[in-house]
Amino acid sequence: MIFDIAARSLASSKVLIPVEQLLGDCTGSRMPEVDPERLSFDAAIRAVEACPTSALQLEGRDGARQLVLNYGECTGCGNCVEASRGALRAAKRLVHCGVSKSALIRRWDIDSRNERFSDDPVAAGAASEIRALLGRALNIRQVDAGSCNGCEAEIGALTNPYYDLERFGIHFVASPKHADMLLVTGPVTHNMAEALKRTYEATPSPRLVVAVGACGCTGGIFAGSYAISGAVDQVIPVDGYIPGCPPTPAMLVTGILRLLGGRALKGL
Ligand code: SF4
Ligand code: SF4
Repeated sequence: MIFDIAARSLASSKVLIPVEQLLGDCTGSRMPEVDPERLSFDAAIRAVEACPTSALQLEGRDGARQLVLNYGECTGCGNCVEASRGALRAAKRLVHCGVSKSALIRRWDIDSRNERFSDDPVAAGAASEIRALLGRALNIRQVDAGSCNGCEAEIGALTNPYYDLERFGIHFVASPKHADMLLVTGPVTHNMAEALKRTYEATPSPRLVVAVGACGCTGGIFAGSYAISGAVDQVIPVDGYIPGCPPTPAMLVTGILRLLGGRALKGL
């Protein structure tokens, strides 16, 4: 079998995915989005009632009824897509990766069928300091603070020949002392809270912290559990959030590069 894989790899002229194809792509993540043309109050109610987390909410704002979608809480279960009969669909592009927590939230006016756009506050101050210091290299320490390992499976794929994160000068390191960025997965369990704090303290400043997955962003399906201290930002300061359950490698690349900024992200 290993020889089949090698033969297929050699026969393929284009194995490495170009960065333009990765940025913003969320195919396979099952993250939903609204099809404004098909949005109605009934469809919105059906979707909200089908959502097993509080990712979907109905709100009244400025006299308008709104459907609110918080990607930080979305597990990509697909219930809303089925229940709304087409008003919500699986998204193919999602630029809400590596953004602030408030920028994980999208709103659609139900009556006018328009999305309400808000400013997208991307990264905190540390990002600009890091950009100035980094040049062309970034070292990441991944911390599993209580994950189911679904997020780790996708993070592991970042170093394979398809995604090849190393081509951007980004490497995974074994020690926080060598790291510029902490990539933290999972709801932070009580048992891992102290270890996460110590890892953060051992990482030299300026440093970036990225909360990964629904669990890292908000606690995900474990929010409120007796066994967890909370989302990552309830334990250490976080600079950017990458949603998904789990996020795909393309979403992870988008989030990491977005936090670092640069020419590759123009137009994203
Ligand atoms: S896909 Fe996300 S928003 Fe839709 S029902 Fe599932 S958790 Fe809720
Ligand atoms: S976000 Fe989903 S895949 Fe990632 S650790 Fe939580 S449950 Fe697992």
